[in-house]
Amino acid sequence: MRSLILSLLAALLSAGVASADETRQTKNDHYDAFRQLDAELPTPNVYRTASGAPGAHYWQQRADHNIKVSLNEDNQSISASQTIRYTNNSPDSLRYIWIQLDQNRFRADSTARLTETADTEDGEDTLSYGDLARQQRYADIDHGFVVERVADGRGRDMQYTIVDTMMRIDLPQPLRPGQRTAFSIDWSFNIIEESVIGGRGGYDHFPENDTYIYFLAQWFPRLAAYTDYVGWQHQQFLGAGEFTLEFGDYEVEITVPADHIVSATGELQNESAVLSAEQRSRLNAARSADTPMYIVTPEEALANEQEGTANTKTWVFKATNVRDFAWASSRKFIWDAMIHRQDDAEQPEVLAMSFFPNEAEPMWSQYSTHAVVHTMEVYSRFSFAYPYPTAQSVNAWEGGGMEYPMITFNGRRPEPFEADEDDPNAADKPDRTYSRRARHGLVGVIIHEIGHIYFPMTVNSDERQWTWMDEGINSFLQYLAELEWEEDFHNHRDNYNILEHIAEYMTSENQVPIMTQSDSLLQFGPNGYTKPASALVILRETVLGRELFDFAFREYAQRWKFKRPTPADLFRTLEDASGIDLDWFWRGWFYSTDHVDVAISGVREYKVSTADPEVEFELSRQERADETPETLGQIRNREEGRQTRLERFPELADFYNENDPYTVSNADRNKYTKLLEDLDDWERAALLRAAADDDFVYFVDFENIGGLVTPLPLLITDANGDEEFMMIPAEIWRRNYRSVTKMLIRDQRVVSIEVDPRRETADADFSNNHYPRRIEQSRLELYKNDRDSRDLMADMLSTLREAKGGADDSSRAVPLEPAGND
Ligand SMILES: [Zn+2]
Repeated sequence: MRSLILSLLAALLSAGVASADETRQTKNDHYDAFRQLDAELPTPNVYRTASGAPGAHYWQQRADHNIKVSLNEDNQSISASQTIRYTNNSPDSLRYIWIQLDQNRFRADSTARLTETADTEDGEDTLSYGDLARQQRYADIDHGFVVERVADGRGRDMQYTIVDTMMRIDLPQPLRPGQRTAFSIDWSFNIIEESVIGGRGGYDHFPENDTYIYFLAQWFPRLAAYTDYVGWQHQQFLGAGEFTLEFGDYEVEITVPADHIVSATGELQNESAVLSAEQRSRLNAARSADTPMYIVTPEEALANEQEGTANTKTWVFKATNVRDFAWASSRKFIWDAMIHRQDDAEQPEVLAMSFFPNEAEPMWSQYSTHAVVHTMEVYSRFSFAYPYPTAQSVNAWEGGGMEYPMITFNGRRPEPFEADEDDPNAADKPDRTYSRRARHGLVGVIIHEIGHIYFPMTVNSDERQWTWMDEGINSFLQYLAELEWEEDFHNHRDNYNILEHIAEYMTSENQVPIMTQSDSLLQFGPNGYTKPASALVILRETVLGRELFDFAFREYAQRWKFKRPTPADLFRTLEDASGIDLDWFWRGWFYSTDHVDVAISGVREYKVSTADPEVEFELSRQERADETPETLGQIRNREEGRQTRLERFPELADFYNENDPYTVSNADRNKYTKLLEDLDDWERAALLRAAADDDFVYFVDFENIGGLVTPLPLLITDANGDEEFMMIPAEIWRRNYRSVTKMLIRDQRVVSIEVDPRRETADADFSNNHYPRRIEQSRLELYKNDRDSRDLMADMLSTLREAKGGADDSSRAVPLEPAGND
């Protein structure tokens, strides 16, 4: 009950509902898990309908961009001037415009940095090498936007106010509905080193040969979204909650060292100015290639990265109807491409491309571009045709995984050989091998990031507020795409069932409902990604079934393609299109922290009584014989040869020694005849039929330990070995969400009942799913007691080794010694 109250409270808080839940039962612990979500969901209006579709007066703003940007490789900085044309499609007049300055998150005075907390997990103060190096880098280099000028369309200065990661530009006159305005911003900033600072974009430095990969994201002042449901979405960028953006057209001129290869959102406009004749002819060939072809080969990239140049080139890209723009640049890039053909009149062909350094080989040329195309094949089937002309995967930083329209930054590289003294196989290990997990990790991250081009780059949900709306939906589709990549896909775990993993999280103390703002999530990964993804898997495979789910999900994707859905729009659309009431599902999975754990707590077997004393009395006699064994005293007396008085004096026996309590009398027979006479015809027919069928009747008790209501998939095994699968919908819990009893009539005796035999409900404890219970089996690993002690004499005699600099593992902890202690 405690968890229930907490979860209700959390749900109310997170949904922003101020009033108490007026319909909640306060006597005993009754709780209506099927109550409709009216209090939690916003009131439908002309912008968003009660069926979850965009309303008759749906609107969204538009922001078109022209940007000229230069990369300075000498000091890892960029500078740019950009023009934004902003169209006010809202019914409101706007006196100012809010702009997102995401790089300001790295400033010393940002809310994000000031509110970082120390690592005191498990009650112990710790500091990692990574955290220490980050603080040192912050001390050495200024980060954040340097805004040089904001000017209107005629070049006059405009008033602006920077508020942390947001900037308000005041308009000289209000921008009326339907009007458009233009303004320009000149700015620069120092690029962060991703592996040191962390932050979805920056540069990756390869100290071995002093080369760089630049991948610029959240790199230009972007329009804050103005919406019908929240007005300006200008919650500060704190690091976890991602981005809420407007669609528009982009033309971007990127000036970089002349030997760089550039990958960017959109399509390259000036091939002849930046590519060699040979590169152009290879690129043309790739435009009809069904497998990846090199535009820049590994050998050429290796040669290129050794030369260096003082000259620059300007790459020009155009992108239509995108909500963002990102780019990557390096002289290290290998480049391959192939064509993806799809059944779509608007976008029949998509150029799939990958850009990666030699350090990423041999994995990347084998898998990256194929994974890009595979993603489009699977995701398009579940949503809509890929809507853009290019789809790119760039190997950015090692731990990478980040998405932008038409371009994604992905990590994973094979391991360079490093001798590990503790590894008994170290001597045999060749260079650039990779584990099975790394291979599936690479394919998985590319599927995930390319998948984001559908959600949220096209279905433009509000990431700052709701991480799960893009990450959860995308992780769900990623899971489906991975299952179609190869059988037994191994992403992080041996048995690739996303539901087994999530149960562990859902039973933990440290969680909040999915419907919690992005930056307030306690565990970002399970909450924003795996739990909503698991919920959708259960919705598809178990609650709705594939046919209903796929139709409804596709409807959601189509309704909100290039529009901005909220959670209510998703919840309502999936109900609206499937025809199934799902409020209980959203309430349990998205608004509470309950988990699934159903136990079969009891099973009772019955036969229907025929009421006929000739039959029933004999059955009762047998039952009594079976259930009440002879008393021990009587048995032992007999064994000792002790005679009873009645044995010694047989004349003491009478009527009762010949007739036991189950002897049928005429009075009993008359009672039965009277009973049959008194029954209505249909009642008599039912009784006589039951007597003839001789079926077994079972009362099966289910207990909902986890609190989350769930369908009950049952496997019933009969005495003759037959198995029957039965799916009981979650509505069985509608009057009592804690315990229910189900009656089953079977013509065979049942020997066992199992709930969720296919592991499809995210049940957290399978030890209580069988009736009768099973003995749990496992293996015990033996271990040795090891006692460490310092042998100072031996340590003093050790030879002194040279320190070797370089590679470190940033997740390791710096030893923290309490002051004053030895
Ligand atoms: Zn993601």
